[in-house]
Amino acid sequence: RAKAEGRNRYRFFEAEMTVAARARMALELSLRPALAREEFELHYQPRVDLRSMAVVGMEALIRWRHPQQGMVPPQQFIGIAEETGLIVPIGRWVLREACRQTRRLIDEFGRPIRVSVNVSARQLAQPAFAAEVREALADTGLAPSALELELTESALIEDLERTAAMLGELQALGVKLAVDDFGTGYSGLAYLRRLPIDVLKLDRSFVLQDDGRISAFDFVKAFVDMAHALQLSVVAEGVETVEVLDFLRAASCDEAQGYLLGRPLPLAGLRSLLGG
Ligand code: C2E
Ligand code: MG
Ligand code: MG
Ligand code: MG
Repeated sequence: RAKAEGRNRYRFFEAEMTVAARARMALELSLRPALAREEFELHYQPRVDLRSMAVVGMEALIRWRHPQQGMVPPQQFIGIAEETGLIVPIGRWVLREACRQTRRLIDEFGRPIRVSVNVSARQLAQPAFAAEVREALADTGLAPSALELELTESALIEDLERTAAMLGELQALGVKLAVDDFGTGYSGLAYLRRLPIDVLKLDRSFVLQDDGRISAFDFVKAFVDMAHALQLSVVAEGVETVEVLDFLRAASCDEAQGYLLGRPLPLAGLRSLLGG
């Protein structure tokens, strides 16, 4: 009897797996033609300078308008896109679209606006990546200094030798390089000595917890001071409360993003935010 029960439980598990696997496969199948069908769009989250409190830039965040499922958040499809390699053409589209739209905003508002674009490990590993960035800038007329590429620690340390060469090429173009979700990995800091990084984006979790020996404020303050000594600027992610905002300003953090300062918005929404 125990054996039969075990078998039933196993069958049940298998059926559940199949449901999940089927959903995933369906998503993967509809992801393939999504680019050609123009189902992607970019939303933009404002980035604020913590001294002037002015919007100085924005992060481009991809959205998928699925014909049946409606808006699919990136967490549900970026992983699949990375595993299948689809992230390479999708990422190329994101880069060009972000450069094109930012160039238009700069022309409209007559002032500098920076855009940050998320780049996956898979994209960074393409030998032609720097050439693609150069072409995107040349074709859209966006100044290289207006573009920042966000890379995760895991992407950076995957192959440090090759990453150093690629980042050197990107730096030579004049684009800015940022480490995204900084403080969530366990990769240590040695790579910062080897790679031409300009910006650290402190993960939300870094700023929040006040549960140990050292207060969150002291920890962030010490980090910002270290970063500044290394000529890095610091951007805080996920700012949701005035308390955290005040704390970051007191810690001399340079810039911030978060729901308190502005949610990711479609281009039209960002346009009215910049105008108002
Ligand atoms: P990320 O690059 O760390 O982006 C920040 C995420 O935090 C965004 O989620 C943003 O909407 C969310 N966020 C912003 N402010 C707050 C806040 O105050 N509180 C909280 N709880 N969350 C906040 P989103 O748009 O769902 O994107 C999730 C992740 O998907 C991104 O994390 C990034 O890793 C990835 N992603 C998004 N667009 C792209 C893309 O074009 N290419 C690649 N490769 N990855 C992308
Ligand atoms: Mg990011
Ligand atoms: Mg981030
Ligand atoms: Mg994050």
